[in-house]
Amino acid sequence: MPELPEVETTRRGIAPALEGAAISAVTVRERRLRWPVPKGIERQLAGQVVHTLRRRAKYLLLETQAGTAIIHLGMSGSMRIVSADEPPEKHDHFDIVVNSGDIVRFNDPRRFGSFLWAGKQPHKHPLLAELGPEPLEPEFSGDYLHHTTRNRKVAIKQHIMNGKVVVGVGNIYANEALFRAGIHPARAAGRIAAARLDRLSNEIKTVLQDAIRQGGTTLRDYRGGDGKPGYFRQQLTVYERDGLPCVQCGNEISRVVQGQRATYYCRTCQR
Ligand SMILES: [Zn+2]
Repeated sequence: MPELPEVETTRRGIAPALEGAAISAVTVRERRLRWPVPKGIERQLAGQVVHTLRRRAKYLLLETQAGTAIIHLGMSGSMRIVSADEPPEKHDHFDIVVNSGDIVRFNDPRRFGSFLWAGKQPHKHPLLAELGPEPLEPEFSGDYLHHTTRNRKVAIKQHIMNGKVVVGVGNIYANEALFRAGIHPARAAGRIAAARLDRLSNEIKTVLQDAIRQGGTTLRDYRGGDGKPGYFRQQLTVYERDGLPCVQCGNEISRVVQGQRATYYCRTCQR
């Protein structure tokens, strides 16, 4: 499933084909995605110049003068740049055709992705309105975590995975960042000292940035028909390593379930 790093890598891969280009047509072959693709979206986007392709949480925002379209990759979505004569394959649900002749093509076998129109005030769209800060922006910090956790009994892992607190910290990254910060995933968030929350916010940023860098090297090719961009997995220290030795102390990595998500941690290194 694409997480924030894959979405950011996708954005960087396809943005050069879109930003500053005029959209000559939008072709929708399958409207039954997670939500129906709105009927008017082809007309809204045709003739528009793309100002920017931004990312907010795991949403891609295609910004034009007329308004913004929201794209989400869902569970299995991917996007790539193909040339005008490349025939669509199975699961290629929509195309954004630009005046250079390039097509930005959306593929999604499981159809949990989205293509929606958000108008001129996208930040007010229900999918975006209640999102917390971006983890890689300066406003997400140890101070911010400290401020949002005081007197809270919620487990720290569940706190950092709550999209109203901070967006885009998926299960893999929550597990890895807590290990690197030496914090037990089930510890009550309100009882963690400021210095340790500082370290945690930094480790969240580092683990996401490392993943984006890795995606940039393993998924370099967003252009062409041979193979779709896949998902990548960086070097993981605890995630899905239960029963294996901890990279720091050699003791076995443990697995528990927290809020229906698997948690991996070292009982010795994480307090
Ligand atoms: Zn350990």
